[in-house]
Amino acid sequence: MERVTLAIIGGGAAGLMLANSLKNPKGVLVIERGERLGKKLSSTGNGQGNLTNLGVVDAEYFSVEKTTSTLLQDTIQEYNDSSMTEFFRSLGVLCIADERGRVYPSGRQASALTDALRFSLERKGIPTRMQTQVTKLESKGEGFILTLQTPSGEEKLYAEKVALCAGGKAAKNFGTDGSAYALAQGFGHTVTKLYPSLVQLKTNTEYTKTLKGIRINDGVIQVKTPTRAFSVQGDIIFTDYGVSGDAVFRLSAFIADEIERGQCQLYLDLLPQYTEEEIYTLLREKKAAFPDMAVGELLFGVVNNQVGRAVLRRAANDLKAAASLVKAFPLTVTGSLGFDYAQVTKGGIPLNEVDEGLESRLKKGLYFAGEILDVDGQCGGFNLQWAYASAQAVAQSLDEK
Ligand SMILES: Cc1cc2nc3c(=O)[nH]c(=O)nc-3n(C[C@H](O)[C@H](O)[C@H](O)COP(=O)(O)OP(=O)(O)OC[C@H]3O[C@@H](n4cnc5c(N)ncnc54)[C@H](O)[C@@H]3O)c2cc1C
Repeated sequence: MERVTLAIIGGGAAGLMLANSLKNPKGVLVIERGERLGKKLSSTGNGQGNLTNLGVVDAEYFSVEKTTSTLLQDTIQEYNDSSMTEFFRSLGVLCIADERGRVYPSGRQASALTDALRFSLERKGIPTRMQTQVTKLESKGEGFILTLQTPSGEEKLYAEKVALCAGGKAAKNFGTDGSAYALAQGFGHTVTKLYPSLVQLKTNTEYTKTLKGIRINDGVIQVKTPTRAFSVQGDIIFTDYGVSGDAVFRLSAFIADEIERGQCQLYLDLLPQYTEEEIYTLLREKKAAFPDMAVGELLFGVVNNQVGRAVLRRAANDLKAAASLVKAFPLTVTGSLGFDYAQVTKGGIPLNEVDEGLESRLKKGLYFAGEILDVDGQCGGFNLQWAYASAQAVAQSLDEK
């Protein structure tokens, strides 16, 4: 049986960063079920690779253990955004930040991140096994026996240590269908309730059916749930099932665990630059100036024509109600597009089941990094930052041993 010192399960962001960060990578093997390394990483940030953010703070992250443990906070503080950009600088990638603090490789290609990690892996002579899925993980003395499903059949592998970097349940077309949690559950690990996050939202579509594809640039969404009230600003896109766009993705991270209770309400501000009073005044003046114009058309030149018609239809052509709807167009969230469309999984292996080096408290030699842990971040580079920070924590812990 083939023997390795460390088997890294998952050749995604965390697995590749971990392999590249180890001081002594002798005997390390990266095992990836897909046909190529870092397939998801190459698609991040709309293909531009939003790898981190200048504002990496605890508040941008969610975890069940957040209030009772400082592990998340300590890890992201120790391995922060500068540490990550320096890491990529050492692999030959320069980074730049946009006006919202989102950091990208300077060529704006996510594939540059994957290529840099892959080239470095090759230079260090770290082997990879592609199209190889770990289907079983068992204890064997102090080490592990891995059952591998390969194109030519089943194989066994012995590993002294294992790093589980197999991602979560979101975006299964990238190899992450949630099946890897079972590898940890075999050692008694639990998994918190999982929710799709950073995802498009389904809403009532009675008044928005005709608006499919229309984008509101830099709109504001007020969000109200039984436990939270907050607002986000960004693009809103109407779809046939509800709403999408970066404002929607961002807010979905805050309400992911409340959506299924069906009590989340959105109020779209379609024109944040003007007050309700200003819009109402304009509508009255317009009606007086153009008495022959159909009332349903009066919002032309104020918002997108089709949006204006939908607003006036909902307001039953009452101008005061229409002005109010432009500022707070209510939509009830009825669901999300689910894990297949989500960018991230909320939930995972609880942080209280690992130590500060992210080693299992239940089985020595078993480590976790990335999305498989119960940590998810906001939209804007925070999830790749977590993949990096957690991979560094594991690398340091392994190097020390
Ligand atoms: C479309 C999209 C865009 C995104 N954009 C951004 C962004 O711009 N910025 C950001 O911060 N985050 C972004 N994210 C989220 C980010 O990509 C993830 O949080 C991050 O990749 C998680 O890293 P990971 O290594 O834990 O998991 P992954 O990158 O998902 O890697 C896990 C790997 O493990 C492999 N695997 C799973 N099970 C097994 C098994 N049993 N055996 C062998 N291999 C296995 C999978 O095939 C996969 O390659 C985006 C996500 C998506 C889907």
